[in-house]
Amino acid sequence: MKKRILVTGGAGFLGSHLCKRLLSEGHDIICADNFFTGAKENIASLLNNPYFELLRHDVTFPLYVEVDEIYNLACPASPVHYQFDPVQTTKTSVVGAVNMLGLAKRTKAKILQASTSEVYGDPEVHPQPESYRGAVNPIGIRACYDEGKRCAETLFFDYYRQHNVNIKVMRIFNTYGPNMNPNDGRVVSNFIVQALKDVDITMFGDGKQTRSFCYVDDLIDGMIKLMNSRDGFTGPVNIGNPVEFSMLELAELIIKLTGSQSKLVFQPLPQDDPLQRQPIIELAKKELDWEPRIKLEEGLIKTIEYFKGIIHA
Ligand code: NAD
Ligand code: UDP
Ligand code: UDP
Repeated sequence: MKKRILVTGGAGFLGSHLCKRLLSEGHDIICADNFFTGAKENIASLLNNPYFELLRHDVTFPLYVEVDEIYNLACPASPVHYQFDPVQTTKTSVVGAVNMLGLAKRTKAKILQASTSEVYGDPEVHPQPESYRGAVNPIGIRACYDEGKRCAETLFFDYYRQHNVNIKVMRIFNTYGPNMNPNDGRVVSNFIVQALKDVDITMFGDGKQTRSFCYVDDLIDGMIKLMNSRDGFTGPVNIGNPVEFSMLELAELIIKLTGSQSKLVFQPLPQDDPLQRQPIIELAKKELDWEPRIKLEEGLIKTIEYFKGIIHA
């Protein structure tokens, strides 16, 4: 059945892949984005499809459209961008959630929230199950993002309990792939761009901190499976790749795959930078029959191809 689907943040990295996938499944898509970190290039190939509609819209303002499903992805995701205007970041998560939940309540649409592993902060429990409540510094420089996303989860569960809104909350762990913004300072894009340009690779701290990286195609599979999951399953559910790498291992692999001459330079670790992060994905396996398939090396090769194309363009 053709569904009318709103994707907020649809011109961003994850949103653009999601719009493309949903269109290919035959749905009617409204993409709402204020282009803070998103790019028209990410969705240029969709613009001549009559079932793709682009709205320049900021989710901190109300939006009245008629839809069946809402994927709420609008929010800058990289530390450089979400710390650029931290007040706007909190507003985007909190006021944006109120508006999209109000829209879902009025239209009886199902609504999925792109939450984040950052709700766990710098975790004292490793790896992280959904039941872990997190260790976030509420007054630190990451709080605009972390606490904004935590408050958005609160709003989702209160609209669920108070107004019976059909919610799905997804905690996304570090994801990478084509359409990442080359300037957003995330580690995978930074290292690849630096390696391709043969300039120094900026390693923050001693490089022993870890992350678990999920390739975007796997992530989008999980997102769509969550939206289509059984009635009453709200999450929150972790979606990410549980294979953990240190930033040193990541840099070595990218240097190998690009054949780069780049050397590592060590710079101070940013404030509140989590030392380790790895999802427990048992809930996603059980409820969604989902687990990631694409190994880091395979995903990096595709991502490197993408960056080669835009760097030399
Ligand atoms: P992105 O920055 O590429 O995309 C975010 C999009 O939201 C951009 O197109 C941006 O222009 C838009 N946007 C920002 N503020 C807006 C506003 N007020 N109104 C309308 N649009 C706005 O980031 P992404 O990696 O695609 O992340 C998408 C979502 O997934 C975000 O909510 C992010 O918090 C979440 N997430 C991503 C990751 C990851 O590793 N990529 C991890 C955890 C959570
Ligand atoms: N809203 C929206 N689109 C809609 C319905 C509501 O953007 O189709 C916004 C509106 O700004 C409202 C918010 O969502 O303030 C919350 O809506 P809700 O119905 O929960 O609360 P109320 O209207 O009572 O403030
Ligand atoms: N990082 C790094 N060099 C960079 C960018 C990031 O060493 O040029 C580190 C960063 O300090 C963090 C990890 O890589 O420990 C992941 O950073 P990213 O910003 O991609 O994601 P997040 O910290 O939000 O998980």
